[in-house]
Amino acid sequence: MKQLILKLGREKSLLRRHPWVFSGAVARVQGDPETGDTVAVRSGSGEFLAWAAYSPASQIRARVWSWDEKERIDGDFLRARLQRALGARERLISAETSDALRLVHGESDGLPGVIADRYGDVMVLQLLSAGAERWRGELADAVHELTGCACVFERSDADVRALEGLPVRSGVLYGGLPAGGVHIREHGLTYGVDVAAGHKTGFYLDQRDNRKRVGELSQGREVLNCFCYTGGFTLNALAGGAQSVLSVDGSAEALAQAKANLSRNDLDAARAEWQEADVFRHLRTLRDQGRSFDLVVLDPPKFAPTAAFAEKAARGYKDINLLALKLLRAGGLLASFSCSGGVSAELFQKILAGAALDAGVEASIVGRFAAAADHPVLLSFPEGDYLKGLLLRRA
Ligand code: SAH
Repeated sequence: MKQLILKLGREKSLLRRHPWVFSGAVARVQGDPETGDTVAVRSGSGEFLAWAAYSPASQIRARVWSWDEKERIDGDFLRARLQRALGARERLISAETSDALRLVHGESDGLPGVIADRYGDVMVLQLLSAGAERWRGELADAVHELTGCACVFERSDADVRALEGLPVRSGVLYGGLPAGGVHIREHGLTYGVDVAAGHKTGFYLDQRDNRKRVGELSQGREVLNCFCYTGGFTLNALAGGAQSVLSVDGSAEALAQAKANLSRNDLDAARAEWQEADVFRHLRTLRDQGRSFDLVVLDPPKFAPTAAFAEKAARGYKDINLLALKLLRAGGLLASFSCSGGVSAELFQKILAGAALDAGVEASIVGRFAAAADHPVLLSFPEGDYLKGLLLRRA
C-alpha cells in the first residue's frame, strides 16, 4: 500500500482538517508512490488520517483529497467534488452581477491545486499541484460536461507549478476560443479578457465586489487608480460618476487592454487619463507635481507569496501607502489592497498605521474588503484568506 507515515505527534494539523502535509512532518514513505499518486496518510501510531496526493518535489509533500477512509479517489470522486463546488455558487452571485465566476477555488472547494474560472462560455482550468496534474484528463472532461461550456482552456502556467516539479502548460483542451475574443459582463460593464496570456486566468475575479464598492464611492471625485491592469476599478469609477480617473500601470499590454475595455462601454473617455509607469516612482512624480486626489486605489501584485517575504513586502506596502495618503485631500479615501498570502489582515493594518504615522496624516478605517463569495475560505484553511483591503478616510 502507498502511504505516508507521519512523525509521532505530527498529526495535529490534519486532525484540525488542515489539508497540507509538510515534508518535515513525514517519517516514512511506503509503497514507492509516484508524483500525484494517492497515498494514505497515517499518524506515527498507524491511525488513518486522510487520502492525499503525493508530491515528492514540494515542501507541501501531500494535499488531502478526503478525510474518509471509505472514499475512493477516482474520476467519480472528482466529478462529485466539482458538482459540489458548482452547487456552492448557486444563489451566491446572480447572473446579472456577472457571467464570469470562479467555479472551483482549490483547497477551499476540496480540490487542492484546482482552479476553474468561467468567462461566459469559456472555462479556464488551472492545475497547480501534482495531484491536480495526475487527474488532468478526468478534471478537464468533468469540467467540460458539468458546465456545458463550449471551450475549456488550460492555463497551467503559474510559477507555483515549478515548486511541484511540473512543467508549464497552456492551450485549448476542448472546442476553441471564440474568434472575436472572450468578453464578459460584470456589474453592467463589458470587458475583453485575454484568457491565453492575461494575469491569473485572465481577470481578477476576486475583486468583483470591491470594484463595485469603489465605483459607488467615486461620484464627483478625482480618482487615482494604481496598478490598474485591464481597467476594472477605472471603469467602475467612471460608471460611478468620477470627475476624472488617472490610471497607472507598468504594463503596456494591460493599459492597451484597459483602453479597449473603456471603449467597449458607454463611458466618457475624456475623463480618463492613462500613464504607463512604475507606481513606486510615479507616486513620487505626482507628489513633486503637487497633484492631489479625492480617491486613490492601490491594488498591487502579490509582494509576499509566503510569510518568508513578509518583511520585504511590508516595506513595499508602506512606501506606496505613505505616498498615496499624502496625495489625498482632506476627507479623501484610500482603497488599499494586499493579495499577499504572507501578509495577514492584522499585519496589513499595522503597515497602514505606520504609513499614516510617517506621512503625518490622520486616517480612519471606514470599510474593509475581502475576496468575492466565489472565492470561499475554508475555516480550516486560513491560507485561503489571501485578499484583504482597507478603506481609509483621511481626516
Ligand atoms: N486592480 C486590477 C488588478 C491589479 S493586478 C483589477 O481589478 O483588475 C496588478 C497590476 O500591477 C498588473 O497589471 C501589473 O502590470 C501591475 N504592476 C506590477 N508591478 C507594478 C509596478 N511596480 N508599477 C506599475 N504597475 C505594476
